[in-house]
Amino acid sequence: MSESTLNHYPRLVLAKGREKSLLRHHPWVFSGAVARVEGEVNAGETLDVVDANGKWLARAAYSPSSQIRARVWTFDRHETINTDFFVRRLEQAQKWRDWLAVRDGLNSYRLIAGESDGLPGITIDRFSHFLVLQLLSAGADYQRPALVAALQKLYPDCSIYERSDVAVRKKEGLALTQGSISGDIPPALLPIEEHGMKLLVDIQQGHKTGYYLDQRDSRFATRSYVANKRVLNCFSYTGGFAISALMGNCRQVVSVDTSQEALDIAKKNVELNQLDLSKAEFLRDDVFKLLRKYRDNGEMFDVIIMDPPKFVENKNQLSGACRGYKDINMLACQLLNPGGILMTFSCSGLMTTELFQKIIADAALDAGRELQFVEQFRQAADHPVIASYPEGLYLKGFACRVI
Ligand code: SAH
Repeated sequence: MSESTLNHYPRLVLAKGREKSLLRHHPWVFSGAVARVEGEVNAGETLDVVDANGKWLARAAYSPSSQIRARVWTFDRHETINTDFFVRRLEQAQKWRDWLAVRDGLNSYRLIAGESDGLPGITIDRFSHFLVLQLLSAGADYQRPALVAALQKLYPDCSIYERSDVAVRKKEGLALTQGSISGDIPPALLPIEEHGMKLLVDIQQGHKTGYYLDQRDSRFATRSYVANKRVLNCFSYTGGFAISALMGNCRQVVSVDTSQEALDIAKKNVELNQLDLSKAEFLRDDVFKLLRKYRDNGEMFDVIIMDPPKFVENKNQLSGACRGYKDINMLACQLLNPGGILMTFSCSGLMTTELFQKIIADAALDAGRELQFVEQFRQAADHPVIASYPEGLYLKGFACRVI
């Protein structure tokens, strides 16, 4: 049988010599690598990617409005993109989470981490019996019915809710959308469990899918540094680090965030875990300003947690982001008592671990303090990084001892 009779899909033909990354199973085709598209194909539909000589490389979803012109579903030409395909990918991902859930006592985790679980553009977080979907690409959006059918087949007891209200969808020519797909509407606040803590998640209104599951291991690690210490929890969101600090018997924990809704939930989380509310303070403030105010007033802490939102969306913003990271970390170094611990993080994918480490080193230098890196962090293991897509490592952090 010739190549052409096997092939039922439209074809994306790569420019000469542009097949190398696909041969290494990197899942993206950039617009600059595309010579032409043959056949009728609409946004999100499936096509075959072939090299300049017509050799089959991958089956992918087409994103005509995006710089990432196609995202690969499969490198196996016998695989059709349908409900069964999603069932197979989900089962594969679930096996790993089943193991993790037992190891770490979890009832909530990232079930699908996009590219790293072989489903580009798709995030699925499981919070107790709710599955929360985020569809970020034209292909993911187009496949919604097949994906939902697969989820309903595998998780008949779970409710499905969509949180595709994310700005990156605009790059794909997609509108923002959110709402219940099947089952129960999520309650205003759903309790989940993480390392012995109970945490309330607002699936409908919270950030992202409701909660930052990726910081689970770092929150747990915090517990060991805080006994009898005064802790400053910057960018606290719903207080996961604060609860962990209280469980680690801190003397006091001050949580700072610009979101009053998040701080209100943080306070409820302290109560839910029956921890001492008198040790917890919640401040609605801008961390950049508050750190300066503290410095000017001579306030000191023993442990500072610095977990800011993503500062970098594209390469043009990287140098500005570096300044931002250096600024807050320099101030944090200045606010730490001798021997104090700085737990500092970057969730910007474009910020490499090496660059982030250098920024922290420079920040300490500017603060006039010696700093030792004592522990390193990354996103929790339910956010794996597939070898062909190292960009999947976006969250990195250090525990530093400031002398
Ligand atoms: N540490 C949290 C996650 C932090 S997400 C956890 O473990 O769950 C980042 C948080 O920073 C968000 O809650 C956002 O509201 C807050 N934020 C963004 N800019 C801020 C600023 N300038 N000052 C204070 N908080 C800010």
